[in-house]
Amino acid sequence: MPCKTGRRHPSLSDIKDAARGQWPDILMRLGIPAEYLRNRHGPCPGCGGTDRFRFDDREEGRFFCSQGGGDALSGDGLTLLGHVHGWTFSQTANAVADTLGMTEGNSSAPPARSRPRPVSATKSPERTQDVQAKLHALWVETVPISHHDAQPLHDYLSSRMLPIDDVLAMMPEHHSTLRFHPNLPYFEEVMEGGKPRMKVLDEFPALIALVTSHDGRPVTVHRTYLRKDGSGKADVPSPRKLYPLMPGTALSGSAIRLSPAVKRLGTAEGIETAMSVMLATGMPVWPCVSANMLGKFIPPSNVPIVIWAELDRAGAGQHWGEILYRRLKKLERPVRLMIPAGPIPDGKKSVDWADVWVEHGREGFTESWWRRLIGRVA
Ligand SMILES: [Zn+2]
Repeated sequence: MPCKTGRRHPSLSDIKDAARGQWPDILMRLGIPAEYLRNRHGPCPGCGGTDRFRFDDREEGRFFCSQGGGDALSGDGLTLLGHVHGWTFSQTANAVADTLGMTEGNSSAPPARSRPRPVSATKSPERTQDVQAKLHALWVETVPISHHDAQPLHDYLSSRMLPIDDVLAMMPEHHSTLRFHPNLPYFEEVMEGGKPRMKVLDEFPALIALVTSHDGRPVTVHRTYLRKDGSGKADVPSPRKLYPLMPGTALSGSAIRLSPAVKRLGTAEGIETAMSVMLATGMPVWPCVSANMLGKFIPPSNVPIVIWAELDRAGAGQHWGEILYRRLKKLERPVRLMIPAGPIPDGKKSVDWADVWVEHGREGFTESWWRRLIGRVA
């Protein structure tokens, strides 16, 4: 394809290869809600109706739409995006390539009726082909969280009523998910000579967590920077950060798999909250890093889900918890939504289940307390 701007244009077959098997994720990131993406008749995300549409994917994003008795339409995920957003074929191909991180430079993705901004991990201009090598280099500098070098992390967790031995007992496979870095450089963007530049401000001990996609692939790592003595999170503008994403992956749907999903699975925003719920209830809990990502979580299909959402003054915790709850309910999945009843103490922005754990211990999670502490149990 001729290219005036110097952008790299992947071929259509490259785009289709990269997209294979990931269409639900791609389509959600490009504005098609998850509830449409199932192999059952229902309304069409493009032309409405009540039961004219079905999505059977087959790794190609395949769909059928009877268009309400007009000429039936079917095709792959690219055709579906055209049907829903009215994009031309090349606009659609560009949007999918951008979503998969296959293009560089300015996005030429077309405007959409409901296109959310693609989730990007950081503002770093790093190229996707570098990410895999960087994440690997970071990972080999870490030790298991059980290691004696991880004392600052043990002290930090103790201060949150999360004794390391109890935490390790809940996470038999922690080696592959959570790691400790003794002195991780902390970067911030600074202005120098009128230009933005990434600068190392200091080094801190850090908890490193692997973020895994809904289909089990590594997406990126999450960092929690700690004070050097482990007495709290590091006193920096953003003590929690994500690395850029691995090529061809998406944050949407992903989580940190602290423990295998057995019998039931909890989900929460933060790592510490997830650990608190695990210690209190014994259920495995996967943190999704943020309220927004909790709302987009795609859980494994074989277990009932308990959403341990946050009660937050701004409402984001409850909002995204309910988004996830309603999506799973529509899919007829067994699901429960747990929100602390509050009230939110003066001077605090929110109450989460880690706060309940610190304040009330296991008692805060017993059935008799749920009714008092939880705004709604579905
Ligand atoms: Zn349609």
